[in-house]
Amino acid sequence: MTKRIIAVIAAAIMLLPVVSAGVLATPRIEMADVVVIGAGGAGLNAAVTAADNGAKVIVLEKMPVIGGNTILLGGFYNSADPERQDKQGIKDSPELHMQQTLAAGDNRANPALVKVLCENALDGLHWYESLGMKFADQVFQGYGALYPRSHPTVPNEQGRGYIRVLNNAAKSRNIPIYLNTRATGLIRDGKDGRVYGVAAVDKSGNERMFLSKTVVIATGGFSANVEMRSKYDPRFDASVGTTNHPGATGDGIIIAQEIGADVVGMDYIQCIAVAGGLTTLDVGAMVYVNTNGDRFADEGARRDVLTEAVLRQPGKKCWVITDEMSQKAYDVDAMVKRGEIVKADSIEELAKKCSLDVAKLTATMDRYNKLVEKKEDEDFGKKVLGQTISHPPFYAGLGEPRVHHTMGGLRINTDAQVLDIHGKVIPGLYAAGEVTGGIHGTNRIGGNAILDITVFGRVAGKNAGLESK
Ligand code: ADP
Repeated sequence: MTKRIIAVIAAAIMLLPVVSAGVLATPRIEMADVVVIGAGGAGLNAAVTAADNGAKVIVLEKMPVIGGNTILLGGFYNSADPERQDKQGIKDSPELHMQQTLAAGDNRANPALVKVLCENALDGLHWYESLGMKFADQVFQGYGALYPRSHPTVPNEQGRGYIRVLNNAAKSRNIPIYLNTRATGLIRDGKDGRVYGVAAVDKSGNERMFLSKTVVIATGGFSANVEMRSKYDPRFDASVGTTNHPGATGDGIIIAQEIGADVVGMDYIQCIAVAGGLTTLDVGAMVYVNTNGDRFADEGARRDVLTEAVLRQPGKKCWVITDEMSQKAYDVDAMVKRGEIVKADSIEELAKKCSLDVAKLTATMDRYNKLVEKKEDEDFGKKVLGQTISHPPFYAGLGEPRVHHTMGGLRINTDAQVLDIHGKVIPGLYAAGEVTGGIHGTNRIGGNAILDITVFGRVAGKNAGLESK
């Protein structure tokens, strides 16, 4: 143990006494090379990769279960992929992916980070395959993805599949994951500003200390923190729901800011425009209809554009309609049973079940199917006209905008090191995933989130692991 770590332990013991049942107790201390905060997709990718680079790793997770928002993901992974796309006649490259990602975020992302993201996408896909995941032979254009490079998994387990393989990988490397353990602060050396560990609280409220040579923050975003999100975008107050798990409260941003970390893009907050209504994620197989029975948007548009469009509709809601032919995102029959979506054998029956005007909905669907057959959407300019929606049974879900992803967060460099407010690296501190900013700009492309947590989780894990040696 270095002198510095001994000094830090001594300082920490003095700083963090807790009174338990009237007795002065010191926090329990554990040591590792790398401490990862958060057992979602970014954290597990970082932990496994750090271990593969020779580090002893501990993961802290504040919830009673692992997975974070990653486990709730639609789970399609974007990558240029000649093996699949050539067969489908789709031209693509990491450069095109990069240009589209920058443009979709209104060029507010850091191009250097986007380059790392897109150039390492295929490698990330192969990494999951090496861990035992399988992807479909064909790519499609996922909801909000803007280009046909989205890879669904087989079987389609969405985010659960990623967490399952990553958890198995962590287990096989004997990486301990401490559940119900919430990071409350970073331990930093006053002399050179190095981060040496994490202060935490366990389920019983006991203070814990995890000392390490490097720390990776992978605590996800702040969509579930109403106060924090409405501070940055007042539209997203308590009246707007969220698709996120309750632990998405921005903790990592807060504890890093306490030691001088910089943030970027905090007011770029994304909604799923039709949350609760998505029976399929395939843009080419869905049509949006408002409660008057009218179509009102290009269903393949950017998520922010669609959110604005839905907010302009009566009741700020819309029906998402698909049919038997589309690839289903979820177990639709279970959703029908739970009363979350509607199923019908004809458009007339569907209209009645959705309390829509039968003649209006019939006309809207006929018009949409004609445009698909013509391969030209004269009404809203939709480019992805994959299939008519004409094969019963039909499915419809009533969707509304809910806060989904916070694009802003900790400012990092291409090595996933956290930068301070003066633009300098905070030694020993890394961050990856939704807790970071600068990767998506104003608007995240659908399918780039799983990519972000994979690529930067692995960059952070590798560098944190190597630095700890
Ligand atoms: P990402 O997609 O960036 O990996 P996720 O939401 O999937 O983000 O995962 C983040 C994880 O971090 C969640 O499981 C969340 O419960 C956990 N987390 C958030 N704050 C803390 C904290 N203070 N201490 C420990 N874990 C945390």
